[in-house]
Amino acid sequence: MKVVVIGGGAVGVASASFALRDGHEVTLIEPGGIAEGASFGNAGCLNASSVVPMSMPGNLSKIPGWLLDPLGPLSIRWAYAPKVAPWIYRFLKAGSPDRVAAQAAALAGLLRDSYGSYRPLVTNAGAEALLRRQGHLVVYRSQEDFDGDALGWRLRRDNGIAFEVLTRDALWQQEPSLSREYRIGVFVPDNGHTVNPNRLISRLAEAFVRDGGTIERTRAVGFDLEGDRLQAVRTAGGRLEADRAVVAAGAWSKPLAKQLGDDVPLDTERGYHIVIKDPEIAPRSSILDATGKFVATSMETGLRLAGTVEFAGLAAKPDWRRARILLNLGQRLFPGLRRDYPEERLTQWMGFRPSMPDSLPVIGRASRSRDVVYAFGHGHIGLASGARTGEVVADLLADRAPTIPIEAFSPTRA
Ligand SMILES: Cc1cc2nc3c(=O)[nH]c(=O)nc-3n(C[C@H](O)[C@H](O)[C@H](O)COP(=O)(O)OP(=O)(O)OC[C@H]3O[C@@H](n4cnc5c(N)ncnc54)[C@H](O)[C@@H]3O)c2cc1C
Repeated sequence: MKVVVIGGGAVGVASASFALRDGHEVTLIEPGGIAEGASFGNAGCLNASSVVPMSMPGNLSKIPGWLLDPLGPLSIRWAYAPKVAPWIYRFLKAGSPDRVAAQAAALAGLLRDSYGSYRPLVTNAGAEALLRRQGHLVVYRSQEDFDGDALGWRLRRDNGIAFEVLTRDALWQQEPSLSREYRIGVFVPDNGHTVNPNRLISRLAEAFVRDGGTIERTRAVGFDLEGDRLQAVRTAGGRLEADRAVVAAGAWSKPLAKQLGDDVPLDTERGYHIVIKDPEIAPRSSILDATGKFVATSMETGLRLAGTVEFAGLAAKPDWRRARILLNLGQRLFPGLRRDYPEERLTQWMGFRPSMPDSLPVIGRASRSRDVVYAFGHGHIGLASGARTGEVVADLLADRAPTIPIEAFSPTRA
């Protein structure tokens, strides 16, 4: 079949690669460079343990404090508040105890052996050197912060994630660069990370082309249907005939899905990173500071501090103060970092997480045509779940039953 995959991020490249392995004629379309969207600057974590949804019971009472704290993990551009209000309402509703248990179970299927799920693609691309399986460490400044996360750890345990709680001395043995202010850590040994998400996905895309796939630099604008059957994907550069299409345009997928009869509540949680070149310290595993709510990962470009959530939509300019906040938090986590850095040692970035209010991606067929498969809305976990999503997409294109349950990811779920 002729398959057109829309979007050249982690999800689109993995979907295109697995579809090509099934013998289809695959064209990937991307108006920018490969992996230059959210997939460029994330924290690189391939964490099977990321099953805990973002909306959890008790969040409502924490949000005002987060918004008021200038170093806090959440901000809203007030001009965007009316637009995002329905999304936030759904987000809070999604955080009931029974719903989070169901969301975690669905995510566990998608994230199972996240690291291993990349192996077929990474081996084929010869990109093994970009992956590290060195676990993931979650650290807390206080017992109270750790206790506040009890439900999250229960959800991980219930979903088969192995972890080890480390008290003070064991934590410092594990990661000596950490500040002594951090008292409790949890080590998740089976997780891993990439040392450069952009290069990883770009290498997979190069292998896709080497193996016979095509990449076209253009933007999808719509679909030509005859009845419910797909005829072509319409692009800024003309018509591309297609038997099947995949919508993997990340945070930009909403208008495409709408044309196919699905009004999905997709918005963007903007996130930032700052990278310190030639850092004084290099933690072995990626580290989630659960108190400061950001991730530190040693990358080939330097120490990357990534996180924060900003609601401001797809059009507003970055607020680079959000990236600088990450530097302050990083200096608190790692006292070995310098107090100030010359600008030439710092790079900063902002990206658009494609986020659904219930923390679950949209993976399934379009309402108006079963020839179009959706694969977007992966929020905070699109890198970790990219390869598995690609496998599921290939199954749906080939009319095979997916190897994991996908009902929870339906585009028409409430
Ligand atoms: C600060 C931060 C840290 C993160 N850390 C992690 C982490 O450690 N682990 C993890 O798993 N996830 C992490 N994430 C989330 C992860 O980066 C995203 O979930 C993931 O990159 C989404 O991939 P995607 O392919 O869906 O979207 P994208 O990478 O954004 O790709 C979508 C692509 O579609 C293209 N596109 C848009 N419109 C069209 C169109 N009309 N036609 C054709 N193409 C189009 C865009 O140009 C873009 O290249 C993080 C995100 C942020 C912001």
